[in-house]
Amino acid sequence: MSGPDEIEQVLTEVFDEASRATDGEPASYIPELSAVDPDLFGLSICDADGNMTRRGDADHAFTIQSVSKVLSHLCVLACLDDDTIAERVGVEPTGEDYDSIIKLDHHKRPFNPMVNAGAIAVTDLLMSAHGEKALEKTLAVYARLLGRENVEIDDAVFQSEQRTGERNRAIAHLLKNFGLIDHPVEDVLALYFKHCSVRVTTQDLARLGAVLARHGRAPGSDEVLLDTECVRKALSVMFSCGMYNYAGQWIYEVGLPAKSGVSGCVLIVAPGRMGVGVYSPRVDARGSSVRGVLAGRLLSERLNLHLLSGA
Ligand code: GLU
Repeated sequence: MSGPDEIEQVLTEVFDEASRATDGEPASYIPELSAVDPDLFGLSICDADGNMTRRGDADHAFTIQSVSKVLSHLCVLACLDDDTIAERVGVEPTGEDYDSIIKLDHHKRPFNPMVNAGAIAVTDLLMSAHGEKALEKTLAVYARLLGRENVEIDDAVFQSEQRTGERNRAIAHLLKNFGLIDHPVEDVLALYFKHCSVRVTTQDLARLGAVLARHGRAPGSDEVLLDTECVRKALSVMFSCGMYNYAGQWIYEVGLPAKSGVSGCVLIVAPGRMGVGVYSPRVDARGSSVRGVLAGRLLSERLNLHLLSGA
């Protein structure tokens, strides 16, 4: 087990090493996302006892993007049964880009809730479950799991994606064509884009990771925030599908459930041990933060976090 001193020391090393990586560029297909300092770099770890260790721009706020898919998946797992969810979305990795439309057209059901098609279908399920209160209710869950009083939406990023998100619009129309969403396409997309535009810091992500690492209990307390079964299901999907079409290599090298977002954030969960939040906006061709992936690899190696390691 890693004590706070070891975490402090390893985090310093990992932060310094990962800081040297300068490949990649901030995502620009959502125009507002490119209006960012590419050199920002924040790294936070929250251990099971709730101790927070941070480096760099750990308090810098950015939009959560696809890490919202984990939170929305948890929301749907908490209110609907497996069969109802399985009618709309599966749990298989795609091996395709996160915004791919090809497999959806062939298989007529999104592969998993960690890619755009699956998350849009999940968003529609949340609208059916909560009606007009869907935004309010889901953001309340987001806030609770992120350890905040409330969360705010970055309106500039939301508007930017709403204005330019034609690919997601195409995916949503195809879902509608297959009868996989019940509400009007624009309403479902508006909620999905709002979820993607929630502002967080690496500390928030680390805390969320720690809740998942503790199978639903708040770090450092016995307060139950999530049902253990929901956490098991969400972590299983993150493990196999969370890192876009890099998921296999990520399991091979890092061996931890994780989710990345195109703003440059990565949420990593080391079950029983800690949650990690990383933010660095330079992303690779698959849409994952270059420093985030590197930091994940180094942390797993140095703190011996790989779940399948016998060392
Ligand atoms: N809002 C982004 C989209 O739907 C999220 C993508 C991501 O972070 O992977 O395209």
